Amino acid sequence: MISEIENRIHEGMPGYIEALKQLVRIPSISFDNFDQKFVLDSAEAVKKMFSEAGYTNIQFLLPPSGRPSVYAESLTRPENPTILLYAHHDVQPPMREQLWKSAPFEPETRGDRLYGRGTADDKAGIITHIAACSQVRKALGDKGPNLKFIIEGEEESGSAGFAEILEKNKELLKCDAVIIADLGNFAKGVPSITTTLRGMSAVNVTLRSTKAPLHSGSWSGPIPDPAQALCRMITELTREDGSIAIPHFEDGLIPPTTEELESYRSLDYSEETFRNEGGVLDRVQLNVPGDKILETLWRRPSIVVTAMEAGSRTNAGNVLQDSAYARIGIRLAPGMDAGACTQMLVEFLQQHVPNGLECTITTEDGANPFTTDIAHPFFKKMSDAMTKAYGTETRFIGCGASIPGAELFRNTLGGIPVLMTGLEDPECAAHGENESLYLPDFERGIVAEALFFEGISQ
Ligand SMILES: [Zn+2]
Repeated sequence: MISEIENRIHEGMPGYIEALKQLVRIPSISFDNFDQKFVLDSAEAVKKMFSEAGYTNIQFLLPPSGRPSVYAESLTRPENPTILLYAHHDVQPPMREQLWKSAPFEPETRGDRLYGRGTADDKAGIITHIAACSQVRKALGDKGPNLKFIIEGEEESGSAGFAEILEKNKELLKCDAVIIADLGNFAKGVPSITTTLRGMSAVNVTLRSTKAPLHSGSWSGPIPDPAQALCRMITELTREDGSIAIPHFEDGLIPPTTEELESYRSLDYSEETFRNEGGVLDRVQLNVPGDKILETLWRRPSIVVTAMEAGSRTNAGNVLQDSAYARIGIRLAPGMDAGACTQMLVEFLQQHVPNGLECTITTEDGANPFTTDIAHPFFKKMSDAMTKAYGTETRFIGCGASIPGAELFRNTLGGIPVLMTGLEDPECAAHGENESLYLPDFERGIVAEALFFEGISQ
């Protein structure tokens, strides 16, 4: 049976899509080499949406970078549950703009998807929260939950100031649970709650052998080539199957339980789907057999060289380069510690520098992996609400990516349940070109959140 609230959300959809488009038109890229004025503009736009919808105590919570998180609330009665709603209003850069079929910051509907940077990650999360909450406020009045919002402004650039914001505003943000609407569904139309996240970290390695580049004819042979030396160091990091060769690196890893493995298997994910979704070339053999793909993505660490440089392609000539550079990223599985693993990576690299080359390593801020215990009744309420909204069983899944906020919320706000939902799907190309949002799930996502609020209000 379609409830009153579902009807009203359905009628409201054109307006919610319009509001989403407004946010997508603001190129709020939170990277230092982009104009940060737009991050302020998007914070202002979100603030305006809250004030027009009648929320109170609206304010910017500022991290040291100045990229504002937007806070707003709608309080009912102190005895009602309080839910904190998280999303972020900053976005990734458009990447290779020539590959976009429509301009990244001019949203365009094609078929049943809305294209544009931030449509899925994570401006849809903002509108989902605002739309669901506004409907629930109308329907339930002061019987509904207390609602608090925190819409972050620097998630994509690493959430550097978010811990400080949470710590400073602990009292303001106090709640019984947080919903992070920044994840996604296992597939289109398949409602999913994410229960594990991988952590991450990265190091920047520079190897140097001479004071300046040299003529390769006159000098190469006796002098070690930094590019080859760096490649040797990198190949030592992993075995042929992609597993990590650094001793003790996986000591803390918590393997998935039998139930978790069972639920991964129940998703019936095939190697073929994975290869198609990832655009893996036909002849390329995966590191693991097909039935280990999800476990490897969600519950195993990985190492990836995200950038390498020695000379440049445009100036490539017969030169013995003076130095070589690589950025090495690691993804950490639940149980592993970002700080300890980064340190092990640094030490391992230093122990494997060939020929006494000068090796400089800098580390980036990491994020710990995350797991959540789904025993809290809110998980059942959310999964029931999603099942009803989507018309098919909710799945509990893992995620290979990182959201530093998840652990920060739990640590700062005192062990509260962290419900991770969202509207990404395997076709959404978040962080890539032609990012898009699947519009039927946009509506279902709003309905699900509204039904959840109803469910916890009875
Ligand atoms: Zn995101």
